[in-house]
Amino acid sequence: MKSLVIKDLHVNIGDREIVKGLSLEIERGKVHAIMGPNGSGKSTLSKVIAGHPDYTVTGGEILLDGENILGLEPDVRSRKGIFLGFQHPMEIPGVTVANFLRAAVSARLPEGEELEATEYYYKLYEKMDILEMDRSFTSRPINVGFSGGEKKRCEVLQMAMLEPSYAILDEMDSGLDIDALRIASGGVNKLRGPDLGILLITHYQRLLDYITPDVIHVMVNGKIVMSGPKELALELEAKGYDWVKDEAETAPVA
Ligand code: ADP
Ligand code: MG
Repeated sequence: MKSLVIKDLHVNIGDREIVKGLSLEIERGKVHAIMGPNGSGKSTLSKVIAGHPDYTVTGGEILLDGENILGLEPDVRSRKGIFLGFQHPMEIPGVTVANFLRAAVSARLPEGEELEATEYYYKLYEKMDILEMDRSFTSRPINVGFSGGEKKRCEVLQMAMLEPSYAILDEMDSGLDIDALRIASGGVNKLRGPDLGILLITHYQRLLDYITPDVIHVMVNGKIVMSGPKELALELEAKGYDWVKDEAETAPVA
């Protein structure tokens, strides 16, 4: 089966270990959620999968449909099908959403092939309609002056345009009110399908009311300490993370 496999991953920032032997398999067509307290290393994990240069992998493997992607540049990983939606998307003054996405989509075409403007805008507007985004968005510089909800919808729009095989969405719900969360989640639900594996990272159970995961993992202190069905989120909501930390000390689940 096609999947994104993370095997016994260890990650350092400087000489401090942040991810401490994490294993996970995300199958295409499935939605896995990682929940965990702040500081447990969730964003670090997501950035390492995408190839962020600040983090040093000191052990383990990341296999994309069987191919080891550690050591590949972020743009190569992206073209191979990895997408990362950031917890804190960056503002890029002077680069419009339309130009940015056009460059990103063009970069995936075989050498010498060009993207027709009409074809590009047709696709862009189609995806924007799914995400209930106003067309005036396309001429605005990326994330500059965007509300929290607009920033996250812009991330989901990038995902919609790039059509990845594995999407990692880091705290898509942070800073969103209920309406914005509903729209952004609705977009992700429309993009769900047999060819896409999703890793949803969240601190709160609330996001999982909108996007139902197939499996939930709990990450504490750089490791997955518990995995279970979607109902696990409700238990976490009711009992808090301390409960898992206590359980993990007595009966760790890899
Ligand atoms: P989470 O997303 O689960 O809240 P993070 O991955 O953001 O956790 O952070 C895990 C730990 O790594 C925290 O202690 C954080 O301060 C530290 N950390 C993350 N990124 C950096 C960085 N670029 N430089 C230094 N420390 C970092
Ligand atoms: Mg984080």
